[in-house]
Amino acid sequence: MSTIDYQYILTSIHDRMVHGAGPTAEDISSGHVAAYIPELASVEPDQFGMSLQCLDGSVHSAGHADVAFSVQSIAKVPALLLALTIDPDEVWERMDVEPSGNAFNSLFQLEYEQGIPRNPLINAGALVVCDILISALKRPLEELYAFVHALSGDPSISWNERVAQSERAASHRNAALVNLMKAFGNIHNEPDEVLDLYVRLCAMEMTCTQLACTFGLLANEGRTLHDGKALAPPVMVQRVNAVMQTCGFYDEAGEFAFRVGLPGKSGVGGGIVAIHPRYYSVAVWSPRLNERGNSHLGMRALELLTADIGHTIF
Ligand code: GLN
Repeated sequence: MSTIDYQYILTSIHDRMVHGAGPTAEDISSGHVAAYIPELASVEPDQFGMSLQCLDGSVHSAGHADVAFSVQSIAKVPALLLALTIDPDEVWERMDVEPSGNAFNSLFQLEYEQGIPRNPLINAGALVVCDILISALKRPLEELYAFVHALSGDPSISWNERVAQSERAASHRNAALVNLMKAFGNIHNEPDEVLDLYVRLCAMEMTCTQLACTFGLLANEGRTLHDGKALAPPVMVQRVNAVMQTCGFYDEAGEFAFRVGLPGKSGVGGGIVAIHPRYYSVAVWSPRLNERGNSHLGMRALELLTADIGHTIF
């Protein structure tokens, strides 16, 4: 894969997505922006950005790669990494690692499985991760963002308080999840405190370029791409990639593995990150979502990426 012209591939995918050029042209107006978080509904829908970062630090981008967007559920991955650096045993005692095959905010499985989330990348799992961070850290929100700054090398990364408040005011379903788990003894802090941290985690804003760099350690055996620091042991990285592969797209995880063939994570802001271990980390963003809550063009762009490169992890 050393002679691959990543920049050429990204530019050509961008043209196919945005200008409808070529045999695999896409319709940029397919799908809808997430509206259940009111603040997200005001995003200009017809945007498309992509950024790919190789282990040598080279960065290739196309389109709106430097426009910040709401990363939403993608932020569940750095939160999980931080919780795993604190106490991996506790994380895996309090949640499972099985795909849910259900929507990210589904309630019924949680009742059936007595308050143990199926995995850390659905809302229930991320709420338990937030609970673990609140118990373990003196200043959970600040320390969480400090960890993201260490992963990315970019201290400007923050959250959008308007998006956080907008989600908080409408978070009846997440409140139901956290209260149900509290009743089962799997939430140790006050549900309101857990929800406050969770919405500020999801309201994290990044560009595709920042996201690809932040997730770079998952392609690089736990070493960041910006300064080579080991922030996670290789075995933890392998496990987080395995969980992203099986659980990163909710009830569309099989489809993503089938079409793209990389571990990845999506968010309802329209972002997707994918990892090819030992090669690259890639982020794509386009706000219109398919019916399962994943970026319509983002899925398609990543499918074209691995097809054009000719390699998946399989
Ligand atoms: N904050 C969103 C929620 O809890 C995250 C969902 C997502 O990105 N899939 O509903």
